[in-house]
Order: sequence, then structure tokens, then C-alpha cells
Amino acid sequence: MLDCAIIGGGPAGLTAGLYATRGGLQNVTLFDAGVIGGQITKSSEIENYPGFFDSSKTGLDFMEGWKEQCFAFGLKHEFKKVERVEKTGEHFTLHVEGGEKVEALTVIVGTGSTPRRAGFNGEDEFFGKGVSTCATCDGFFYKDKPVTVLGGGDTALEEAFFLSNICSDVYVVHRRDEFRAAPPTLDRAMRKENIHLITDSVIEEAYGGMMGLDGVKIKNTNSNEITDMTNTGLFVFVGLNVNNGVLKDEKGEFICDMNDRGQVIVNLSMHTSVKGLFVAGDLRIDAPKQVVSAAGDGSIAALQVISYLQELA
Ligand code: FAD
Ligand code: NAP
Repeated sequence: MLDCAIIGGGPAGLTAGLYATRGGLQNVTLFDAGVIGGQITKSSEIENYPGFFDSSKTGLDFMEGWKEQCFAFGLKHEFKKVERVEKTGEHFTLHVEGGEKVEALTVIVGTGSTPRRAGFNGEDEFFGKGVSTCATCDGFFYKDKPVTVLGGGDTALEEAFFLSNICSDVYVVHRRDEFRAAPPTLDRAMRKENIHLITDSVIEEAYGGMMGLDGVKIKNTNSNEITDMTNTGLFVFVGLNVNNGVLKDEKGEFICDMNDRGQVIVNLSMHTSVKGLFVAGDLRIDAPKQVVSAAGDGSIAALQVISYLQELA
């Protein structure tokens, strides 16, 4: 029986593991079948984590030291996906892929979020074949070529800036004429001469053939005019969906209280409506969706787990 099972190895889960093990828990395992470090490993930069200010470093570089530190105090890692969490009496059973069952006295869920699809024609067909959600992974394929970016939030504008240093031109297509991105991020993009903001516009279609994407059709929503952009890669940054699947039971019902956006309702201790079940990071209600706050949540959840186990003993 684990003292604590942590699901998700992003900033929330890793920090929870560090605090739980360094706080004296002996038997703590983190489950993650993806890239340890979470979604920030897909980012080309991070400049708002206090104490870390090096624009030459990617999100992957940034998370490298976290793994080493978080595993140094005895946290174990299982390279496995958890399918669901079940409350079985006073403890929990984790249903792990492949049919394995793992029992734990407490659970911290930090499964975060994943990029949303925009829903235009051809998006699914050419995903991974010219349509991407990762500029650091795929930007280099378009060295000195034009690329198109869809979205108007922080991610779209930051990644457009990253791409502008590799690609000849970056066309940012946004459905409105106001941007959701933070003003300094938008200003920086507007000052870059090879970034072109195409507002009030959507992707009508991504098209291509056996070899992948050939181009995209961009529609102006005011005039209905279509611009055909050939020989381009398409990067889609239209927000995130929370990964809440592990909290559904066999019938597909959530085992704890959720809000109508699929985020988990927690109190200031990161405790859910189910005793012994904690949630940290992007998955919780009102998450600021920042590395620093996900890490903060992870520390709170782990400290609360330690108190909770002391009360049980
Ligand atoms: P995540 O980082 O999403 O990690 C969740 C982990 O859970 C993943 O490793 C995943 O593999 C794992 N997981 C999911 N489901 C399961 C399962 N069923 N079983 C086991 N494991 C599972 N924030 C900033 O503060 N500054 C920035 O500059 C910044 N830039 C960003 C740029 C990009 C491109 C993106 C996408 C995000 C950026 N963010 C930034 C936001 C930041 O990355 C997130 O807020 C933060 O990573 C959330 O941490 P988390 O631990 O809650 O979840
Ligand atoms: P976001 O803030 O939700 O922005 C998504 C953008 O995509 C919006 O501009 C939205 O348009 C557009 N969009 C949504 N659905 C669309 C569709 N179907 N077709 C076309 N456009 C669509 O998402 P994000 O930029 O990924 O950011 C997610 C969170 O992470 C935010 O809280 C953000 O602040 C945070 N983050 C922070 C940093 C940082 O601190 N440096 C960096 C990256 C991300 P509308 O504006 O019209 O809705």
C-alpha cells in the first residue's frame, strides 16, 4: 500500500513528490507515461518563473533540474498511464494501463491539460503531417519557410515569436481583432517585422496529399474573402482541455465534485470533495495555468497529505 500515489509528472506532480518525500513519507510513487516535466517541456521559452531568467533555455531545459531534485529524496517513478482512480473503503485503487491495480492511502492528481483542436477541415487528417501544436518540436522543419499560427492567446504569440527566429515569415491568424495574450507578449510580436497579424480570420481548410500538408485556406470573417497560403506549416494554439479522465468511474461519472468546465473543485488545501484525494495544477478550479502556481499547488497538496496521514495514524 502506497502512502501517496501521484498521478502526473508536470510541475504540480513533481513538486508534490519532492515535498512528500522530503517531508518524510517513505512510500510515494509518481505515475506518468509521458515526458516527465509536463506541458512546459513543449515550450520554446519560459521567462516568468522567479529566479530563472535565461531566454536561451527552452521549457525542456528548464525542467531538467526538477527531475533530478524531485527524485533525489526517494520519490519513485512508474512509467505508466493511470486509467482511473477508485475509492475503495478508506483507501484508493489506481487502475493502471495493462490491468495492474495499485493501492494507496492518498492520491494527488496533477494530470494537467493538453492542447485543444480548433475543429477546421483537414486538422485531424494532417495532424503530425504539417499541422502541429509544438513549435520547439517542429519549427525547424520550416527553416526559412513561411508558417501559419492559429490563435490569439499567450501560447500563440509566444510561439509565433519563437518561430519568427527560424522561419521566413509567421502569419498569426486570429478570429477576433483583440488578442487574449498579455500586452508585453503582443507588443513584442507586433515589433517583429516578419510576424504578420491576420485578424478577424479563421482557417477554412488545411489541405494536402499523401506527403502531408500543402497549404491552408484562410477566411476573413468580415468579407468572406479566402487567402490561399501554400508551402506552409500550421501551428495550432487555441487553448487547452483539462485531463480529468482518471477521475471518472466505470460508468463515466466523476468521483468528486467538478465545475461545468470539467475542472476539479478543491479547497485551499487542494483537497477535493473525496477524503484523501487531492488535485493540483491546471486541473483544479481557478488555476492560473502557470508553472509557478502548479508547483505551489503541488507543495500544498503534499503537505496536506502528510497532515492527513498523521491524523489517520
Ligand atoms: P502538466 O504540465 O500538464 O503535466 C501533467 C502531466 O500529467 C503530464 O506529464 C502528463 O503526461 C501526465 N498525465 C496526464 N494524464 C495522465 C494519466 N492518465 N496517467 C499518468 N500521467 C498522466 N506557464 C508559465 O508559467 N510560463 C510560461 O512561459 C508558460 N508557457 C507555456 C507554453 C506552452 C506552449 C504551454 C502549452 C504552456 C505554457 N505554460 C506556461 C503553462 C504551464 O506549462 C502549465 O500551467 C503547467 O505545466 C501545468 O502544470 P501541471 O503539473 O498542472 O500539468
Ligand atoms: P487561451 O488563453 O485560452 O487562448 C486561446 C486562443 O485561441 C484565444 O485567442 C481564442 O480566441 C483562440 N481560439 C480558441 N478556440 C479557437 C478555435 N476553435 N478556432 C480559432 N481560434 C480559437 O490559451 P493559451 O494561449 O494556450 O493559454 C492557456 C493558458 O496558459 C492561459 O491561462 C495562459 O495565460 C497560460 N499561458 C501562460 C503563458 C505565460 O505566462 N507566459 C504562456 C502560455 C500560456 P478568443 O480570444 O477569441 O477566445
